[in-house]
Amino acid sequence: MDLGITGKRALVCASSKGLGRGCAMALAEAGVDLVLNARGAEALEATAQEIRDTYGVEVTTVAADIATDEGRARVLEAAGQIDILVNNAGGPPPGFWTEWEREDFIKALDANMLAPIALMKALLPGMIDRGWGRVVNITSASVRSPIAQLGLSNSARAGLTGYVAGTARQVAQHGVTINNLLPGLHATDRATSLAKATADREGITIEEAARNRDAANPTGRIGKAEEFGATCAFMCSQHAGFMVGQNILLDGGAFNSTT
Ligand code: NAP
Repeated sequence: MDLGITGKRALVCASSKGLGRGCAMALAEAGVDLVLNARGAEALEATAQEIRDTYGVEVTTVAADIATDEGRARVLEAAGQIDILVNNAGGPPPGFWTEWEREDFIKALDANMLAPIALMKALLPGMIDRGWGRVVNITSASVRSPIAQLGLSNSARAGLTGYVAGTARQVAQHGVTINNLLPGLHATDRATSLAKATADREGITIEEAARNRDAANPTGRIGKAEEFGATCAFMCSQHAGFMVGQNILLDGGAFNSTT
């Protein structure tokens, strides 16, 4: 399918690895020029070069922490005019509700709620002026069904989801769509570190934790970054102009629900 976005310019945050990288790859395949970001320069440059070599699109990189004002300022300065914004950042660590202090919540809110909101505030006006734009926020399946040990994530993502629900309906008249993409478990470094935390908690090996995790999904596996990226690219496509303020769950059917 031609996604109709060749020549558009996308900022994909936190995209040297994992789901952000999957989104960057799929957008590049659709002919979109990219601004990529992560804190570590090495993996970022490697991903950027692989994308240039594979798809021939223009790729700009900015090594910066997207959760900070200073990092976002540098990313926005390098980004220039952006048609497509994919918001992403690392997720908060797992833990227990008795352990979390105000500072832990502030960190989670900075990375997973306030950073995407600040980037939307900065980039939506240009999209509105040009009459076209796409925003996809990578959130989590925990928005639909809480994951107890990820309470910091549950809280921050809920805040972002509420913001998007209202804002998406205010900008849609300008040809700008905002939607959230909710990953269930996908094979990334994040999934490995969560399996390790489960293994430590339950006194089993990481391999056992991963097997149990896979078996618990209706598909018998976890998701792939490529599948996630393809869904993101569709949400950024010309065909998705009537998709507004939605929370698209990509979890292999793990959330047991009729609707
Ligand atoms: P990942 O494999 O750990 O990749 C994270 C990427 O983001 C890396 O490129 C990392 O590079 C970059 N990054 C992290 N924090 C950053 C920051 N503050 N500023 C800029 N770049 C940053 O994670 P993932 O599995 O792709 O997950 C992406 C998001 O989806 C996370 O918020 C995660 O909680 C959520 N999620 C993932 C899953 C899953 O199964 N994978 C499920 C539900 C939700 P640097 O470290 O070099 O910065």
